[in-house]
Amino acid sequence: MSKSFFIDTTVCTACRGCQVACKQWHDLPAEKTTNRGSYQNPPDLSFTTYKLVRFQEQVIDGKLKWLFFPEQCRHCIDPPCLDTADDPTAIFKDPATGAVIYTKNTKNLDADAIIEACPYNVPRKAADGTLAKCDMCLDRVQNGEEPACVKTCPSGAMHFGESADMMALAKKRLAEVKAKYPKAKLLDPEDIQVIYLTAYDPALYYENAVASVTRPRGMTRQAALSKMFKPFTAAAKELAG
Ligand code: SF4
Ligand code: SF4
Ligand code: SF4
Repeated sequence: MSKSFFIDTTVCTACRGCQVACKQWHDLPAEKTTNRGSYQNPPDLSFTTYKLVRFQEQVIDGKLKWLFFPEQCRHCIDPPCLDTADDPTAIFKDPATGAVIYTKNTKNLDADAIIEACPYNVPRKAADGTLAKCDMCLDRVQNGEEPACVKTCPSGAMHFGESADMMALAKKRLAEVKAKYPKAKLLDPEDIQVIYLTAYDPALYYENAVASVTRPRGMTRQAALSKMFKPFTAAAKELAG
């Protein structure tokens, strides 16, 4: 039975408790930052920041809205990063939970190709090329604990459990909030193990809120391109022959 998150952004208060808890559990250092006129801090995910609460100010229906998006790896059901790596010693899927795990052997991969393959722009590399991202707090989950970010969330935005239960909860919440937020939706719920509920168009939250590339999920960009160009390649061969 796989495990999933359900993240209800409609009740997220952007306290960033999840972001801090993630750092604390993984013993990750803080990052030196500057005031950029945004509460989003540090500015992006990094090799030492697996969870980031994104902040966006948007004018919606003539009113200023502050949108929050607690971002992390989606633990894709068919992960393009894993497919691209093709090295189970570097990237593998935990069979019990479905967590997509990166090891220190990611150092031996083509880091840029892995980053490029991720439709959500999640993995980040260190100076030596080693890659890192959210690991579903697998050590906690294997010991019957919730991920640190879920455990710490005070607003009820973050949930974790059996995938079927999380899908049911997500659909229930979507139905509940539809009257207030007619454009509310679940983001890519059939393809990933981190189901987000957004109140507005997901593109307003940030550009990679939904899968950002136009290819069948689970297919690497290289595979998609070669499929796209197959007819031309065949025609070229025929002409040459
Ligand atoms: Fe939002 Fe919960 Fe994270 Fe706070 S801990 S930022 S409420 S998801
Ligand atoms: Fe891999 Fe990106 Fe999917 Fe995470 S979100 S499993 S890094 S492809
Ligand atoms: Fe961080 Fe664990 Fe939450 Fe992933 S599941 S974002 S590693 S605290």
